[in-house]
Amino acid sequence: MTPTDTAGLRTASVTYRGRILSPADAGWNDWPDGRLVVRGGKVAQVGPWRRGARADVDLRPHFVLPGLVDVHAHVPQLPVCGVHPGSLLEWLNRWTFPLERRFRGARARELTRVYFREMLAQGTTSAALYTSAWPDSVEACFEEAAALNLHAWIGPPLMDVDAYRPVTTRRVLDEARALARLDSPERRFVVTPRFALSATRELLEGCAALARERGLPIQTHLAEQRAECDAVRERFGQDYLDVYDEAGLLTPRTLFAHSIWLSAREWQRLARAGCAVAHCPTSNVFLGSGVMNWKRARQVRVGLGSDVGAGPDLSMFRVARMAWTLQSLNGDPADAGELLWAATLGGARALGFSGVGALAPGSSADFIVLDAEQIVPPGAPQAESTEDLLSRILHRAGRSAVRQVYVAGVLRHQR
Ligand SMILES: [Zn+2]
Repeated sequence: MTPTDTAGLRTASVTYRGRILSPADAGWNDWPDGRLVVRGGKVAQVGPWRRGARADVDLRPHFVLPGLVDVHAHVPQLPVCGVHPGSLLEWLNRWTFPLERRFRGARARELTRVYFREMLAQGTTSAALYTSAWPDSVEACFEEAAALNLHAWIGPPLMDVDAYRPVTTRRVLDEARALARLDSPERRFVVTPRFALSATRELLEGCAALARERGLPIQTHLAEQRAECDAVRERFGQDYLDVYDEAGLLTPRTLFAHSIWLSAREWQRLARAGCAVAHCPTSNVFLGSGVMNWKRARQVRVGLGSDVGAGPDLSMFRVARMAWTLQSLNGDPADAGELLWAATLGGARALGFSGVGALAPGSSADFIVLDAEQIVPPGAPQAESTEDLLSRILHRAGRSAVRQVYVAGVLRHQR
């Protein structure tokens, strides 16, 4: 059987052989000669190669890792990647909102397909996504994600202030309530107030109520730029996090993107409420937003986000590398394993998905194959320690190193 025989893969068992690296509760499992058995789209077994076993697919000398997890990105914004913006608020009005306004109907469907193709090519198999505000862009995203068997959070940015379409608070909430029918264990409908400045207090409270009633996750942006924090304080007469807190948006299912301009008190509040954070360093550098405090973020669940289109592309390797760079310049160098952990299992935990982010029995067989020749330069020692290999992956991997991407055991991308 070939790995492209998708019908057969759903029922038959397929054994892969290669160097397998997978995050664990603490640190990484590393099987230099590893065996991954996939059955019915799930990992049946993973561990060291067994003498006498037969490989259906021999991936040696390449590296097998779980699919990457992107905990913050905007599907409609892929076409603006790399266009230099000015400030956050300028960028939203000049580039982003006009693009999102047109992101509906057949155009939304086609561009959503393009987005997922590119996401998979970069090695990402799970994500927390913002669509456009139009309900049919949400439906298109759910359908495409379901067709690929992806685990995802999907939600429209809810706005009743400076929205790019005519709305009332009531209509925004009614539409969100109707879309919540799409929610499932693998693809969550996420209540997504865009950010404090695009919402009235009534909308923020309505979002919290909807999430509470239906047990839905919540995602939004928090404290990305100083000028934005000042504008929030001016409008609401409170600090940014307090606005969300008072509305009832701090829950163990809430994910805040950026979280740069927060005090120690605010970090403690996030930790007490059990919230998670999406660290988006490529976007933060691009928009000149600032540097999130990684040490404080260790108090909460933290994943990494590409924040496309403020991030330049969907590469989670680039995002993890930028996180490393910023911390290194801050005098607090992180270790490669910790950042790649955040890009896999950390992201899955930030989203509350127990079946992705690591290769373990019972998890979805979402995995990527990285090209050993691109990661390890010619002439390097044959056997590398786990730490050295993770460091090379962090610093050298990118789109071209992703040879194959499997989702639920099905080959979805081949370089
Ligand atoms: Zn964003």
